[in-house]
Amino acid sequence: LEAKEEFSHKTLAMDVMRPRRSDPPLSVLTQDSLTVEDVETLIAETTYSGFPVVVSHESQRLVDLIISIENARMRQDGIVSTSRIFFTEYMPPQPPESPAPLKLRGIMDLSPFTVTDHTAMEIVVDIFRKLGLRQCLVTHNGRLLGIITKKDILKHMAQMANRDPDSILFN
Ligand code: ADP
Repeated sequence: LEAKEEFSHKTLAMDVMRPRRSDPPLSVLTQDSLTVEDVETLIAETTYSGFPVVVSHESQRLVDLIISIENARMRQDGIVSTSRIFFTEYMPPQPPESPAPLKLRGIMDLSPFTVTDHTAMEIVVDIFRKLGLRQCLVTHNGRLLGIITKKDILKHMAQMANRDPDSILFN
């Protein structure tokens, strides 16, 4: 009999999260420097259903996760492509000629669930099941590193079941 792989190697959040090492970096939104056009371009160029919102690309500390940016096409007066988007509560006074800003704080998940990259996938799966999560962010030393969606979890579970058909851990 073969030794069961789980005993020698525990799958960690970092093994399941996206992006993979060879992938382009996580697609994030900065909280107060993007225009409507910037975000529309990002939506057009990617297929993701959500984007974490960060303070800035430099600090990339986690702020929030948008559940669905596409549902957020709110009709607000005077919004144009060059309108600045704010995910922040506070909005600094805009220069007089600038177009109306678009406030999108209302569409964000204000407390996205987070695990560290070293969290065992058994625990991550358990959290997804118990809390009914749709996605979860992965951090390392407080910095945002990646994302795990419910579908990523389901794929991971299918892989584990293939590897070890006797395992009822994830059923
Ligand atoms: P689903 O997993 O339900 O298809 P998405 O379409 O949002 O949901 O994600 C597709 C894949 O891309 C998943 O493997 C997910 O981990 C990854 N992903 C999701 N959001 C992002 C993002 N903002 N940046 C990079 N990868 C992402």
